Amino acid sequence: MPDSSSSTELKVTAAALREASALCRAVQQTLDYGVLEKGDRSPVTVADYGSQALVCRKLKEAFPADEIVAEEDASALRKPGQQKVADQVVRHVLAVHADGTPEDVLQWIDYGSGTPGPGRFWTLDPIDGTKGFLRARQYAVALALIEYGRVRLGALACPNLDGGLLLTAELGKGARCCPLHQDHLTDTIHVSTTYDAAAARLCESVESGHSAHGHAYRAAQHLGISTEPVRLDSQAKYAVVARAQADIYLRLPTRKGYEEKIWDHAAGALILSEAGGTVTDMCGKALDFSQGRTLAQNTGIVATNGHLHSKVIEAISALGIGQHKA
Ligand code: AMP
Ligand code: MG
Repeated sequence: MPDSSSSTELKVTAAALREASALCRAVQQTLDYGVLEKGDRSPVTVADYGSQALVCRKLKEAFPADEIVAEEDASALRKPGQQKVADQVVRHVLAVHADGTPEDVLQWIDYGSGTPGPGRFWTLDPIDGTKGFLRARQYAVALALIEYGRVRLGALACPNLDGGLLLTAELGKGARCCPLHQDHLTDTIHVSTTYDAAAARLCESVESGHSAHGHAYRAAQHLGISTEPVRLDSQAKYAVVARAQADIYLRLPTRKGYEEKIWDHAAGALILSEAGGTVTDMCGKALDFSQGRTLAQNTGIVATNGHLHSKVIEAISALGIGQHKA
């Protein structure tokens, strides 16, 4: 298996996420988000499209042969009724790269319509936590490199976390974090040393439709945790556990059959495990990134500082959580 997650990949990733974060912040300042509704009724904004255009453009320039599997595509922007939003996207992207045409920008977005093969490909969530972005709370630009079913490199830009952070990890090389505005990666990060489950700080999604808050509450009670969970959008949850600001991230299914998307977890899961944590599904099974666009072989997510992992899995199992009726 080739090890191609060299520093070139990391440098390109960091540069791409910085560019995308700057665009997201610029859109946030205009307060004109150009929100569209997708088929699954979730929102998508000018910043989602703009971020995807910038990251995909940079990846294709550096690695023309690589497939990119990203959350968005430009089909909605090509519809006549969406000209205003398309114009906004083009304006924001060309403010960064004036060398393109409006059609180029749509093409850059569609570079993200690649197929997840068995070998090497990138996966991108241009704005993970779009609802958090709309609330001016937490969101992340999440990019990961997957090779032969394993995440080799992961990076999260979290523009609203502690003044703006960039977290990166390469498989076997640890996880690092630096301010988004700094152009070299400095601090190695580590999970907390909390062994006492009752003292654990738990985090989960803001959206009760994305993670079953009631089930997490029962698990927390079973573990003796009395403090309220911290709710935040996006893979910033992986970031806070990786930086020892929380100890457990629970994502418990709200309905039978939902398959987690690879771009919602690849980057965060590698960063957390390289920071010393453990990430599995709610049954304790390793996440399987070899199944295409989703984690089809997994159910829910349990991410911890490692020390607490088996206790959390045991609590979920003892309570019968997630064993939905067919
Ligand atoms: P969060 O910010 O933790 O609420 O997660 C945001 C992500 O939740 C989005 O990127 C979606 O892909 C994903 N999502 C959408 N519907 C569901 C669902 N029913 N269960 C779990 N995740 C979902
Ligand atoms: Mg997402």
